[in-house]
Order: sequence, then C-alpha cells, then structure tokens
Amino acid sequence: MELEINAATGLLSAVRQVASPHCDVRPAGTTLDLIVLHGISLPPGEFGGPWIDRLFTGSLPPGAHPYFAQICAARVSAHVLVRRGGEVVQYVPFGLRAWHAGVSQYQGRSACNDFSVGIEFEGTDELRYEDAQYDAGGAVLRALLRTYPTLDRQRIVAHSEIAPGRKTDPGESFDWARIPALLE
Ligand SMILES: [Zn+2]
Repeated sequence: MELEINAATGLLSAVRQVASPHCDVRPAGTTLDLIVLHGISLPPGEFGGPWIDRLFTGSLPPGAHPYFAQICAARVSAHVLVRRGGEVVQYVPFGLRAWHAGVSQYQGRSACNDFSVGIEFEGTDELRYEDAQYDAGGAVLRALLRTYPTLDRQRIVAHSEIAPGRKTDPGESFDWARIPALLE
C-alpha cells in the first residue's frame, strides 16, 4: 500500500476525506517538524462506530452514549485517523493546524499543534493495534516524510510524550519497534 499527498492541497489521495471545522492556519513561518501518534476510541473501548467522525466534525450527539455528554463540546481534530481495519480518514489538510495535541511541549517548544501532524489510531492503551493499522499507518508516515522534508523519522512521538501526566495514548499497546521497518 502506497499513499500520495498532494503538496498543493495537503490532502492524501484515495482516502476518505471528512472536512473538520476544528482547524486553523498555522502561525506564519512555521515548518512541519513533528509527527504525533495518538490512540482514540468512541465510546472508550468500542470500535467501528461513526463517533470519531462526529467528534471531529463537532456533531457528536450528547445523548447517544453517557460518555459523550462530557466531550461533545470539545473542539478537537486530527489530520488523519487509521481505523481498526486499516481505513485511512483525513479530517484536516496537513498544511493547516489540527487541534490534537492540546497543552503540550516537545524539546522545550510548547503548543505542538503549531508545528506537528496528528495521526490517530483507533484503539486503546491496553489492546494491541491491528496489523492493518501498522500497514496503513506506515503508508501515511512514508507519504508524509516524502512530501515534507522538514519532517524527520527521528521526530515521531506519542501524545503521552508531549503531554505527560495528562495523556497516555497511544499507550503501551502501541508497538513502536515496528515503526522503523514501516518507514523503509
Ligand atoms: Zn491523543
């Protein structure tokens, strides 16, 4: 599986596009320096529903699940989601700032959303991620590194790493040892 990014639009070709309103322009002069990997499931521990799309588009119905009432007003997004079966969904063009990292710091720089790409993997901290997700996630990473020379394979981090004590995703279940081979 190989994916292409249109550098003019910042969009992956041949993936499902769901435009999120939860994004804005990156600060002037910002270069893309960091890739942040996340884990998400909605409701927590359940896979396959429409709820991540709904959260990232600001249309999560608060009554659909007890957990949703507390998060439905959150204005959050990521550039890309990799679902359990390997489906890739893009919500925000890479050139724009997605709202995935929150209060965060990487090597002394705060506000990581300014200079990062956020990739969500549908999953939990405890349950191993699917092979199809590593395959598809690897294709997204390769496309990013090819298209944006300021990104670097040495700067792919966990959300938990840039927001310690606040975030734990993508969790111990994410097999970082698989990443180098995926980048070849
Ligand atoms: Zn996260």
